[in-house]
Amino acid sequence: MTRRHEILEEMGLTPVWRLRNRKEEIREVKEEITWIELKQVVPACTACGLHKTRTQTVLGVGDEQADWLFIGEAPGAEEDRLGEPFVGQAGKLLDNMLAAIGLDRAENVYICNVLKCRPPGNRNPEPDEVAKCAPHLARQIALIQPKLIVAMGRFAAQTLLNSDATIASLRGRLHQYAGLPLIVTYHPAYLLRNLPDKSKAWEDLVFARKTMQAL
Ligand code: URA
Repeated sequence: MTRRHEILEEMGLTPVWRLRNRKEEIREVKEEITWIELKQVVPACTACGLHKTRTQTVLGVGDEQADWLFIGEAPGAEEDRLGEPFVGQAGKLLDNMLAAIGLDRAENVYICNVLKCRPPGNRNPEPDEVAKCAPHLARQIALIQPKLIVAMGRFAAQTLLNSDATIASLRGRLHQYAGLPLIVTYHPAYLLRNLPDKSKAWEDLVFARKTMQAL
């Protein structure tokens, strides 16, 4: 016990409570809470304005101890309605991409997004929203401890790598997030609009599969 604490105790002023600052709150979300707690904290989150327009939060889906972790941008309209990531058109393509390398969202794969709430009108996430949601994602990754992370699209890649580089310059290389191997590829929604880049996404998936086999 510290001298200060002893004095306060003698004065009958213990226990001592103090307000935690924002950094401590973030550290706590990131480092300490369990899956059960995360599943309570995220739906109750009001850290950014998106809580006002969401139908529900979309934490993620899949095996919570998966080797493979796929991370997208943010829930869209269907995801906001159903509470599951990648259930719309982009989700169908993601399922096909997974199948192409012998994976299934129900087995050994976890899928989530950088943002847990839908940006209205499917606009891009704001930097402030990404920053406020980052502790949830960080904790989720720490709990899953995947063998390999696949960041899909600019927002996931730039957020996880703390970079403003383009997808084109980040793909084809092995990166790291908190000591975990990370590969960058195009977002399925982008591929739906840019069919010629599907072959590049296929190269990324083959690279990911090879990387996983070597881990
Ligand atoms: N796009 C995403 O980034 N995530 C989803 O869950 C759906 C579409």
